[in-house]
Amino acid sequence: MKHNWNSIRDKIQGKISIRWGIFAGFALFTLVIVILLWVFQIALLESFYRSTKINEIQATGQAMVSRMEEQQLDLQQMEELITQTAGEKQISISLSDSSGRWAIVQKSSPTSFLDKLTWVDRAQIYLETQSVGGTYLYSQDNHNGQPDNMIYTMTFTEKGGGDRLLILYSGLTPVESTVDTLKIQLWYLTIVMILLALGLALFIARKISFPIRQINESAKTLATGEYDIQFQEKGFREISELGRTLQYAAGELSKVEQLRRDLIANVSHDLRTPLTMIAGYSEVMRDIPGENTPENVQIIIDETNRLTTLVNDMLDLSKLQAGVIPLEKSVFNLTESIREIMTRYDKMADFHFYFSADEDAYVNADELKISQVVYNLVNNAINYTGEDKTVWVCQKNSEKTVRVEVIDSGEGIEPDKLKDIWERYYKVDKSHKRAQIGSGLGLSIVKSILDLHGGLYGVQSEVGKGSAFWFELERVEKPGSQPKGLPGT
Ligand code: ADP
Repeated sequence: MKHNWNSIRDKIQGKISIRWGIFAGFALFTLVIVILLWVFQIALLESFYRSTKINEIQATGQAMVSRMEEQQLDLQQMEELITQTAGEKQISISLSDSSGRWAIVQKSSPTSFLDKLTWVDRAQIYLETQSVGGTYLYSQDNHNGQPDNMIYTMTFTEKGGGDRLLILYSGLTPVESTVDTLKIQLWYLTIVMILLALGLALFIARKISFPIRQINESAKTLATGEYDIQFQEKGFREISELGRTLQYAAGELSKVEQLRRDLIANVSHDLRTPLTMIAGYSEVMRDIPGENTPENVQIIIDETNRLTTLVNDMLDLSKLQAGVIPLEKSVFNLTESIREIMTRYDKMADFHFYFSADEDAYVNADELKISQVVYNLVNNAINYTGEDKTVWVCQKNSEKTVRVEVIDSGEGIEPDKLKDIWERYYKVDKSHKRAQIGSGLGLSIVKSILDLHGGLYGVQSEVGKGSAFWFELERVEKPGSQPKGLPGT
């Protein structure tokens, strides 16, 4: 049953806009307030008034009686008490003995009911009040617009010893005329409240629903694949937060989309060439007898290797540029890291490698990616170096930075090409042996990684003499060492 009710409520809520929801809420609130006002001010006013008056007359009577019971008042004090109370409370008061013959009467209005009482009446009232336990309340409701009356009688024995009868009398002003005035007031109030609620509901609904509608429109546009859409980030906190979250989501989606586009473009453009070669040579070897030579097989192997490098480079670069892989920074010994890389190259018997370094330098960077930078630069140096087949790697420290240079004695790069070599797929000389194998992505990867690290990089090159590719990273303290300037222990 509860489940049913919830699902019905959800269905209804799903169909009502925020604007109407808020409006309905306000309307209901106003209705309740107005109904309460009408009920309390109009329907219950008379009974409120009557019960207040009854309480008041009873409390006054009891206060007077308890004073007279407890303190022995003389005649003059009694008269003073009665006159004062009658004046303050606008009540007619009579105090008499049990026979009714002796009485002090204090009237609040000239036509008081107390005037009509004879001593016989008083004596009778005394007896009647006694018989019902000492207090008696009579309230008359005329229901005809005539003034109503209220009489409260009490019997008691004063401290001096005398039995006494206290009669309090008060007229009740009819409330009809007051109610009529209130009714008119309430009508105005009701209309003003409804208008106010209407205005306020529309204003608040607009403030909430307008930005949500805008965000919704932007989200629909985003869903069609337009990732550079701007989301509304104004309005109440939750709404602006929603806008920011969606903006972030749009940014992330666009990165992934960029990665996808790049990959498709690269795959279709660059992978076709080696694949065509592999397919072509394989077909030739299958169809033409005598072409099944080791040279041809080597070409297929070379092309396959090239394909592998290409695919790896593409993936790396696309991911780097799309910013989908975060840097995994840590403090490490850069000198040690380069030294390790160089020992691997030492196995290449044809080449000579020289590594010189100042004292060990520590950096806060992604070790794997910085290694890739070194690998790419050294690979290029190997591929483009001259007859002496020598590659130098130098690490130089300054106070704040560490600079790594990869130097070769190759053919160098023409000054006007220096800017372009960092672009993806750029190759200075497309007929160069290595350039045919290279992907043209190596330096783009270097550039992307160093950009991500906020590092500086560049190249000095002279045609015919060689090139020096360099990069710089910020140095950090060796982990666990004393910060500079502090005395050692
Ligand atoms: P590739 O895979 O072709 O080497 P890179 O992005 O690494 O791609 O380099 C881009 C181009 O820059 C190369 O094709 C080459 O012409 C030039 N280049 C890079 N390094 C050197 C170097 N050490 N000496 C001469 N030319 C270089």
